[in-house]
Amino acid sequence: MNDRRLFLKNSLVAVVGAVGAVTAVGKAEAAPQKKKYCMIIDLNRCTGCQSCVIACKAQNKTVKDRFNTKILTMEDGNYPNSRIVYTPVQCNQCENPPCVPACPVKATFKLPNGIVVTDWDACQGIGACVPACPYEARFLDPRYKGQAGGKVDKCDFCFNRLEQGLMPACVEACEANARTFGDVNNPAGEFAEYLERTDLKTRKPEKRTGPNIKYAPNRKSGKGGPL
Ligand code: SF4
Ligand code: SF4
Repeated sequence: MNDRRLFLKNSLVAVVGAVGAVTAVGKAEAAPQKKKYCMIIDLNRCTGCQSCVIACKAQNKTVKDRFNTKILTMEDGNYPNSRIVYTPVQCNQCENPPCVPACPVKATFKLPNGIVVTDWDACQGIGACVPACPYEARFLDPRYKGQAGGKVDKCDFCFNRLEQGLMPACVEACEANARTFGDVNNPAGEFAEYLERTDLKTRKPEKRTGPNIKYAPNRKSGKGGPL
């Protein structure tokens, strides 16, 4: 946790320079964007093995029974002529994140690279951002004392790993290569090929949040797709 806190502080300093970091979030959002991160999950490849869930747990040490990434399980077809399909879900690092304006103390905000983060030093555990998220991606972590209900946690694309030149833990852990990740302004390899596809989907498009996690839909049925 301290490690992630430190990286967040460094990110903010890099973004806003010598100006007060957290209080200058508005300026940070207006800065020119060099990198813009996105994850693409191929539902044809996901086997539901949960390796990404375990890797995320190990990386972020989330409180018991809470996870920053989860695997939704669906039945495609009707038993006995059915099969199980999987959809990995987590924070979408939305373009228009409703969780951000919901926070009365501006503890959660979007970095210029597109990642929505929470400043745990500023978070007061009010929890207003939790129901504001249409994807149930946030939760209060009760381990932190001195806060009303704890501090809010969610996926942040492992931004501390990114700053070290590493992939998010879930991407690295996926042996099925169901997850690809990269910079949409400088895409490379398979990530670039996926980005060119016209059939990518997002979860709950009717919410108009502009998710930065996109899904290559299941070829056979379209099920196991964004929920
Ligand atoms: Fe699916 Fe990959 Fe996660 Fe396994 S590690 S559940 S294949 S996304
Ligand atoms: Fe915020 Fe939820 Fe969007 Fe993540 S998925 S940026 S928590 S609204």
